[in-house]
Amino acid sequence: MRYSKLFIPTLREVPAEAEIESHKLMIRAGLIRRFASGIYNFLPLGYKVFRKIENIIREEMDNQGGQELHMSALIPAEVLKESGRWEVFGPEMFKLRDRGGREFCLGPTHEESFTVSVRNEIRSYKQLPQILYQIQTKYRDEIRPRFGVMRSREFVMKDAYSFDKNDEGLNISYKKMHDAYCAIFDRCGLDYTVVQADSGAMGGSGSEEFMVKSTVGEATIAYCDNCGYAANDEKAECLEPEDNGTGRGVLEKVHTPDVGTIEDLCEFFNCKAGQFAKTLIYKADDHVIAAVIRGDRDLNETKLQNLLGCVELEMADPETIKRVTQADVGFAGPKDLKIRTIADFEVKHMTDFISGANETDYHLKNVNIDDCSINEFADIRNIVEGDKCPLCENPVKIDRGIEVGHIFKLGTKYSEALGCKFLDENGRENPMIMGSYGIGVARTMAAVIEQNCDEKGIVWPLGVAPYQVIIIPVNTSKEEQVEIAENLYKEFKEMGVDVLIDDRKERAGVKFNDADLIGIPIRITVGKMAGDGIVEYKLRKEADRIDVPVADVIRKAKIDLCL
Ligand code: ATP
Ligand code: MG
Repeated sequence: MRYSKLFIPTLREVPAEAEIESHKLMIRAGLIRRFASGIYNFLPLGYKVFRKIENIIREEMDNQGGQELHMSALIPAEVLKESGRWEVFGPEMFKLRDRGGREFCLGPTHEESFTVSVRNEIRSYKQLPQILYQIQTKYRDEIRPRFGVMRSREFVMKDAYSFDKNDEGLNISYKKMHDAYCAIFDRCGLDYTVVQADSGAMGGSGSEEFMVKSTVGEATIAYCDNCGYAANDEKAECLEPEDNGTGRGVLEKVHTPDVGTIEDLCEFFNCKAGQFAKTLIYKADDHVIAAVIRGDRDLNETKLQNLLGCVELEMADPETIKRVTQADVGFAGPKDLKIRTIADFEVKHMTDFISGANETDYHLKNVNIDDCSINEFADIRNIVEGDKCPLCENPVKIDRGIEVGHIFKLGTKYSEALGCKFLDENGRENPMIMGSYGIGVARTMAAVIEQNCDEKGIVWPLGVAPYQVIIIPVNTSKEEQVEIAENLYKEFKEMGVDVLIDDRKERAGVKFNDADLIGIPIRITVGKMAGDGIVEYKLRKEADRIDVPVADVIRKAKIDLCL
């Protein structure tokens, strides 16, 4: 393509709306533009990369026997009511009505649509297994849309669903999707880790996430260098610590007016946050419960929710807290609390600790677990760096990751709810065993940029680059430069290479900056030495520039293009 004819609005300035590198570069390189909060439009260069990623996904899904189809984004409420998710999704789901008042949503995911389609068409074990997929737009009214297309409210997902007659079959389908995902992310040039993920309280026997390690990732990964264990923070298990003996102090009530935060308490009692037991009051569906963790820890709401088996879990409001603790917010404690109380394993082994007294302006000192009314102990906190690996007990490390893909053994959760059954070899009716598998196309693109950029711009890996080669005639009024550049352009095109010629009447500096910003892997500059039949050859990812005789350019590029 000819640069002069293309719509690639590059920007020199760093856009104020963008916080992270990939977002800044996607705007600066003219790949995307913001349309509304969490809603982005793809411009030609961005859409070219988008389609390359889409095609990689498509090829690898097809390689594993996946069949592509396309479902409506508009989903009638009934199917989500049947599965029980109409309520579960809450405000994240965009709901709407048609002119006749019938309810719909814009699909946040498509388990129900696929399950209903298969239910309506497939009857016999002879028709199984099936792996069906689509590359289609999803809508989620995210609380915090951020980082551009990394977390947006409209985004394209490749979502796949497998239907099998037994667990053995599911394991095979799941493995196929696992392998497809590895191939996809490899071809995208990503450095990623597969981590164990939570599969929820209701069914589901296994789940893994594909994480791209990155400081801007919103997910937390715990991993062990010793045994290879890796899990996200919702799944990573914290082992029960060793017994700490018994406390010796005498329980004492202390007047603590105006001592609100943990920091204030540390100062007041002259101790560390780890010596407090923090009591958090939650609403779990229709019940109010208390969760107790060490003062320096964070509660993991997924672990707590799985333990309780509740659909909704949220922090209680101040009135509720006052009602159940008889005290203002900030003075709850596990002694004499009249509601169901769950404490983290660590709390079980704390001695002589400090907690709220369930009385406004008072705390208790030298509390021991025997003083408290705790119903059960469980793992309900976030894992932290240095905690023991649940497999080999070596200290774990913590990193941040961008979740680009998620594979999930669903079991019969949807097939039972929606009556998706088949007749087995003995003529008996059974629910199909399902799996679901998702990749965010644009999030993958942003993750590729996060891992492949420098101070000048994007450094596209070959497989997803919008153009693989850019040819820059330095001075378009010099005939010999133009001629060599045009001939090379023609040759690359005939070879089927995605090639761009920068035929704009711009200064060389502008062309070089744009080529670096938009990240084209191979740059061929036709400049002063054109008269001697020499051009400059440079890879975007390397600093070296080399002079190459025109006759050798194609041969050299073929090697770098792996042709
Ligand atoms: P997250 O925890 O990041 O919100 P999720 O668990 O909701 O993700 P899934 O429902 O498993 O994600 O969706 C599958 C894939 O879709 C994710 O791995 C991710 O690549 C992509 N994805 C999910 N939400 C968004 C979003 N808001 N914007 C862009 N991509 C998304
Ligand atoms: Mg989400």
